[in-house]
Parts: sequence; structure tokens; C-alpha cells
Amino acid sequence: MAGKRTFTMIKPDAVEAGNVGAILEQITTSGFRIVALKMTQMTTADAEEFYAVHNERPFFGELVEFMTRGPIVSAVLEKENAVEDFRALIGATNPEDAAEGTIRKKYAKSVGENAVHGSDSDENAQIEAAFHFSGREMF
Ligand code: ADP
Repeated sequence: MAGKRTFTMIKPDAVEAGNVGAILEQITTSGFRIVALKMTQMTTADAEEFYAVHNERPFFGELVEFMTRGPIVSAVLEKENAVEDFRALIGATNPEDAAEGTIRKKYAKSVGENAVHGSDSDENAQIEAAFHFSGREMF
């Protein structure tokens, strides 16, 4: 059966631009239930660990710098087929390639500053949710 939960972050660019409310509204009206939610700021060590899979990529330093420059809003979302449906809702990594109406098409500035994160597998959703939330913070 398809997984029921995914993990998301509203990234610093979208928080700075005042788009938290609009993005959460689009997420919930698209059928996702929020089961965990908070605003935090990642440390350099946090971002390096969270994005460790990308540590050989040329944009890694820029990504860590960006993700730590201001607060993020992280959430765990519940819905049937959550991971795949949420990736469809946010759109392609590069907003130029993202479909009309997707969150990245509407709010992302660039391939790096792309407004939101969405887990890419059920396994990563679980790892990422546990990275950001304790058991007592997930409902
Ligand atoms: P996604 O977030 O869509 O799963 P990736 O896992 O490929 O995309 O990349 C993780 C994050 O790294 C992206 O969301 C984006 O913030 C950043 N990133 C990806 N590619 C680039 C790039 N070419 N230049 C700068 N930042 C990038």
C-alpha cells in the first residue's frame, strides 16, 4: 500500500517572502492533513546532515548557506499516496520546468531557492520527519 505520510519544509525564501500562509492553505486544500508543524532555523550542521546525499554536488555549499539563512516551517503531512502526490503538488525542482499551478511554479525564485521541500520516498519521509520532530510533536 502506498505510504500515508510525507515530510515538507517551507524554505527560507518563501518564509522571507511571506508565503507561509498561502502555501499551507494550498497544501491543506489539496487534501493533506497536517500532523506536525513548527518554525525553526537549521544550523549549518543540521543542513549538512539533512542534505548529506548532495555533499559532492557543486551547489552543496550554496544549498547549506541558503537553508540556514533564516527560519523554515517544517511539517509532516498525511494523505493516501502522500510522497508521490506531494511531489506532484510542489512541481519540478526548477520552477521553470514546474507545471502551472504547482507550489514551486507560483512561489519559487530559482532552482536553488525553490520555496519547498518534499520527501522523495517513503523511507526518506520517515527519516526526515524523525530528523525534525520528536515523537511527541507528531500527531
Ligand atoms: P528536489 O528538492 O526537487 O528533490 P534535489 O533533491 O535534486 O531536488 O535537490 C535538493 C535541493 O538542492 C533542491 O530542492 C534545491 O534547493 C537544491 N538544488 C538542486 N539543484 C540545484 C542547482 N543546480 N543549483 C542550486 N541548487 C540546487
